[in-house]
Amino acid sequence: MYLSTHFRTHNCGILNISNVGETVCLSGWVATLRDFGGLSFIDLRDRYGITQLSFNMENNVFLSEAARSYGREYVIQAKGKVVERSNKNPKIPTGEIEILVEELTLINASETPPFTIEDNTDGGEELRMKYRYLDIRRPLLSERLILRAKMIKAMREYLDERSFIEIETPNLIKSTPEGARDFLVPSRMQKGSFYALPQSPQIMKQLLMVAGMDRYYQVVKCFRDEDFRGDRQPEFTQLDCEMSYVSQNDVLNTFEGLTKHVYKKIMNVDLPDFQRLKYADAIKFYGSDKPDLRFDCKIVDLLSENVIKNSSFPLFLSAEENKQIISGINANGCAAYSRKQTDELVEFVKAPHRGLGGLIQIKFNEDGSVKSSADKFFNEDQLREIGLLFNATKGDLILIVVDREAKVRKALGDLRLEIAKKQNWLKKDSWSVLWIVDFPLFEKDEESGETIFVHHPFCAPHPEDLQYIDSEPLRCRAQQYDMVMNGWECLSGSIRIHERELQNKIFQKLGMDEKEIEERFGFMINAFRYGAPPHGGCAFGIDRWVALFANADAIRDVIAFPKNNGGRDIMMDAPSVVDSKQLKDLGIKFEF
Ligand code: ASP
Repeated sequence: MYLSTHFRTHNCGILNISNVGETVCLSGWVATLRDFGGLSFIDLRDRYGITQLSFNMENNVFLSEAARSYGREYVIQAKGKVVERSNKNPKIPTGEIEILVEELTLINASETPPFTIEDNTDGGEELRMKYRYLDIRRPLLSERLILRAKMIKAMREYLDERSFIEIETPNLIKSTPEGARDFLVPSRMQKGSFYALPQSPQIMKQLLMVAGMDRYYQVVKCFRDEDFRGDRQPEFTQLDCEMSYVSQNDVLNTFEGLTKHVYKKIMNVDLPDFQRLKYADAIKFYGSDKPDLRFDCKIVDLLSENVIKNSSFPLFLSAEENKQIISGINANGCAAYSRKQTDELVEFVKAPHRGLGGLIQIKFNEDGSVKSSADKFFNEDQLREIGLLFNATKGDLILIVVDREAKVRKALGDLRLEIAKKQNWLKKDSWSVLWIVDFPLFEKDEESGETIFVHHPFCAPHPEDLQYIDSEPLRCRAQQYDMVMNGWECLSGSIRIHERELQNKIFQKLGMDEKEIEERFGFMINAFRYGAPPHGGCAFGIDRWVALFANADAIRDVIAFPKNNGGRDIMMDAPSVVDSKQLKDLGIKFEF
């Protein structure tokens, strides 16, 4: 690596025993200073690591005193000899050597930083966000940004080798619907008109296919003005891709290949071929369209089982009439849960957003006995028969719920994850990567009752289901797919509609009249008049994928300058008020 010799001959992470005897020059930040009277040491830090500088009063009083006067985060330059350390530190690559300093320059002083710049810092989240540039000096954070860059490089490598072309698309555009609210940018030249920031380059990349670019990708910022929900950022990064003349299979194979390439290159993991799980089965067996399959624990449906039908349990007997289902999971190895632990599970399914009435428990104890919270209604043989349906063995805990299907699946999906967390089944270094295919094309909006799209309005219907598009639109599946990594949706995509008439029809199904279609999507529909090729693609959520590899809890931990939970950049203090002149130029009047 080239380094300007004016400031340094090496970085702080590179010197080792093979450099002993060399005279070197390093620049960096004072990470720590240890003063033992006659001897003192500075740990000098830069992005690459830490090197110990050593000062000996006997050798050079002047230098030793200068070193002692420095504070944390001072920027200094040190010249000296590399020597073998007597007290080695096997934890760092430079731990066998130190620099006997002969020349020292203070380049820039620093105020005492508001938190310690170490992986185990004393700074709270908000404080670190405010001083993000200091936070990034912590190796934990800088390493994440480096990991991010390496991952993106590996993605580009794979795509470049396969004739994909990186093309930039504009940020000031007309709204692209991805189901969120747009960020709007007022136009000064045309007062009262607005650009939208792209929720994704979806329409642009489709138009690039019409334009004949054949294989496109872009590492791109997307903007969605959503209320804070879990792990979201108003701006985030996608690896956005599109291909012409492809079937769903072609797209899945291409991006399965990309994913395997990145796993191998970055984590040295050889992923097996990905399972392709139908959306309907994901919901049926795992209660989620992004199931974490690092562990199995499938939902078992019991309603039609004789042992249930023949029981005297009123809740079970009235289920069918009440349009309810009876289903459960086997929490392997949890029979020894205490009363307190099982009560917590009961509370978990009763939480308002899950809204179940309770949880029936059957314990298959290690001593061979069987105990149930509904003992009154079942004899032991019946309980064992139920156990067989779950393949229960000694030590297992069966958990059963009764309610409407959607509630049951959601609650059991959540419960299987909760148990996995408690039982430590979610191993950080094990990977479950799979495809979810055959999503529904439309769904009913719970609040308005209107038909809305599941992904976006450009997804092609499943060819077998085109026949239902007018009669039973909700029955229509889409040629849409997601990739799920350890329970996180990391990619979404679809084969697109490329015929004008069909696209028009879908817009109409979504409640748009001709005028609205023309206003919002006229340019796109028009492009489809000029020979649009069949095409499809996808977008990876880069932040999520990096967070997963970095073992970070939230995507903001892998973004250089993220927003906080309320969508604020607290370092820059944005959003902020602007002066009235700016507003006047834009023709905007505020009434508070
Ligand atoms: N534009 C889509 C999204 O942002 C991805 C795709 O369908 O390619 O989710």
